[in-house]
Amino acid sequence: MRPTLTPHLVGGLNKFGGGGAPDHITDIDGVPIDDLIERFGSPLFVLSEQRLRENVRRLISAFETRYPDVVYGWSYKTNYLGAVCQVMHQEGAWAEVVSAFEYEKARSHGVPGERILFNGPHKQREILERVVAEGARVHIDNLDEMYTLEAIAAEVGRTIPVTIRLNFDTGYTEPWSRFGFNIETGQALDAARRIGNSPHLRLRGLHSHIGTFILDTRAYEAQVRIMCAFMETAESETGCEIDSIDIGGGFASRNALHGTYLPPEQVVPEIEQYAQAICDTLLEATRGRTARGKPQPTLILETGRATVDDAGSLISSVVATKHLPDGRRSAVLDAGVNLLFTSFWYNHRVELAQPPQGIPEETVLYGPLCMNIDVVRASVTLPPLRVGERLVVSPVGAYNNTQWLQFIEYRPNVVMTHGGGEVSVIRQAEDLQAVTALERMPVHLRSVEAGMSEG
Ligand SMILES: *Cc1c(COP(=O)(O)O)cnc(C)c1O
Repeated sequence: MRPTLTPHLVGGLNKFGGGGAPDHITDIDGVPIDDLIERFGSPLFVLSEQRLRENVRRLISAFETRYPDVVYGWSYKTNYLGAVCQVMHQEGAWAEVVSAFEYEKARSHGVPGERILFNGPHKQREILERVVAEGARVHIDNLDEMYTLEAIAAEVGRTIPVTIRLNFDTGYTEPWSRFGFNIETGQALDAARRIGNSPHLRLRGLHSHIGTFILDTRAYEAQVRIMCAFMETAESETGCEIDSIDIGGGFASRNALHGTYLPPEQVVPEIEQYAQAICDTLLEATRGRTARGKPQPTLILETGRATVDDAGSLISSVVATKHLPDGRRSAVLDAGVNLLFTSFWYNHRVELAQPPQGIPEETVLYGPLCMNIDVVRASVTLPPLRVGERLVVSPVGAYNNTQWLQFIEYRPNVVMTHGGGEVSVIRQAEDLQAVTALERMPVHLRSVEAGMSEG
């Protein structure tokens, strides 16, 4: 056997040298991994209903115990599989959508218009007409959208209550200035004035989403202070009454961003820490206002990845192994960036589903695509892998089941575990029929005979 040197890394990054962490896992949510693969094939996404419910309950309770009036809107783009959304809605979540498609999907899940928050820069007249008729909350992104809403309101002879999206510099995050109206340049106050002067619109809410995977809770304190200051100004200058402050999403999940050396357990705040920072600041910043007899604004949350990420795992099988010219080990898996879009940002946790055999070494994990960029982990310390062995990649519940690609490969089954060993398919594996169902063949291309009979 070749001698190897395994560097000791502080913080348990090298779990095989670190001790304490289990050397392999045998089940997900109590269901044996072997059974899951036998029944549903490999690769396989597994979502835990129980974990989802625990996460959403913990989020809502962290905020409700610190602030009197809280609404949670489930961010559809984070994972809009019907079963996932339904768990969220059963737990009381509204829907937060950013397109006509997501709006229609939320309605198809039975969510009433009044419980839908409609964000995003792309809202055309047709969908706005429906959204207005159904009483959903429109979060205006730009002036053109405002003009369209005004025209619709004039046509139906109503005054529409609206929310505007704000952008600003918190001092802790890269400003996302492409969405909404900017505060520093006066654009946001102009928008508020314009709404104040319109007989057809009424400003009732403020929204902002300052970024994603935000590790510093001070960014939220700054966000809330800036939004509350703007609320005071808008109310006194335009006479509007703001009834809700929507702080968007952005809480980090227990995942490891590329380039972060400390493990997530050490750098990702607990949900309660985010809640404490946000609610304390909001109570403080609205004290003067409530003293003047105004009601406390509703606090709206649109948390995405922090609620669903750790409820999802992906089981993948080793298809082949080889040594790279520089001596590193590598393995080809049956799941790659086609299914794990988030491996472009995260070093996901990779666990063995069988006992380790042999000495751990640096290994590259490739996906199945015939593409150089298809890398699941560029460097991970693993014992020698054999064809047919399984790895469990996690957390993968956020953004993968929405951003995945039908590219080169079929997308696999997605199952949900319900506790007590119960498992259901919540999205079937694709086959040729599913993938080609929307293709249409022009008549003169329907036969290959011409080409086949040549020569
Ligand atoms: C994507 C998005 C969210 C959810 O963001 P996370 O970082 O996943 O919490 C919430 N609100 C808006 C407007 C978004 O675009």
